[in-house]
Amino acid sequence: SHEADPINGNVIAKEIRQEIRQDVFAFQQRCGRFPGLAVLLIGERKDSQTYVRMKQKACDEVGITSSTHLFSDRVDEETILDCINDLNHDSSVDGILVQLPLPSHLNEKLIIASCSKTKDVDGLHPANVGQVLLEGSNAGFVPCTPRGCIELIKRSGCSIEGKHAVVLGRSNIVGKPVSLLLQAENATVTMCHSRTIDLPSIVRSADIVVAAIGKPNFVKGDWIKPGATVIDVGINVVDDPTRKCGYRLVGDVDFNEVRNVAGALTPVPGGVGPMTIAMLLSNTLKSAEASVKRQTKA
Ligand code: NDP
Repeated sequence: SHEADPINGNVIAKEIRQEIRQDVFAFQQRCGRFPGLAVLLIGERKDSQTYVRMKQKACDEVGITSSTHLFSDRVDEETILDCINDLNHDSSVDGILVQLPLPSHLNEKLIIASCSKTKDVDGLHPANVGQVLLEGSNAGFVPCTPRGCIELIKRSGCSIEGKHAVVLGRSNIVGKPVSLLLQAENATVTMCHSRTIDLPSIVRSADIVVAAIGKPNFVKGDWIKPGATVIDVGINVVDDPTRKCGYRLVGDVDFNEVRNVAGALTPVPGGVGPMTIAMLLSNTLKSAEASVKRQTKA
């Protein structure tokens, strides 16, 4: 039987990292310094620790200087805001990333908005969110995961224009911005969420599906139009007693079912995840270049 083309996020992200590495070293030649990323890690969540480690490693590989600022999960808001204020004024720092989610006593909105919008490489500052609405992919900082999804669709050879794209999930981090970007690429977009009635029949009419809901193996094979491109953003932990660690990661899409129907499909892990990190590097370099441009103008 027919099987979907796997969209290999590891391979595509590696290509992008190599392009970025060349641009980073060209930047260093021109400007006499490397781009810099500062990461704030608050609390002891294992998943957040893993993501931060992966981001640091990726920075090292392409020549971006990274620093991590660690805080206990009982840190007060004042301390975080002071740290961000220092980083906002540090000219060696081009990107500030606050690893989410934050402990519940901290005001996430306030903390994100306190990062300089010119260093907001995650694209979560309200000013940058608004720019995505106004300018699509031409915005200053496009959030990393949504931008990664668009890159994966494009680099897998799927054209977006005129297609019906169905986005599952409407979060500020993934669902909303990816919907806006798809629309800016001339797709006809349907946004679905937990109150959507008859999700399967809406998904069945999609040429492109982006699933970002956080429910393991939720999207089934008989929901998918034959030949559709399916991007699985979900990262879900499920028990797996056959593994030494006792768990494994699965997406929001039932991979084994959907692979028999879709035209192209991203795996989890190895799909959107590595692209998110590649886009973070790209935004950091972009920020460094914009910062140098502002200085030469001033
Ligand atoms: P959120 O929990 O913030 O949002 C989930 C969205 O899915 C909500 O809009 C919710 O609807 C919707 N939803 C929940 N249940 C259903 C359902 N049964 N049917 C339809 N819609 C539903 O999640 P995020 O957007 O932050 O993340 C989504 C997934 O992507 C998670 O698994 C997360 O781990 C992963 N992720 C992966 C990243 C990567 O780099 N690959 C980066 C970021 C996230 P409603 O609004 O009505 O509540």
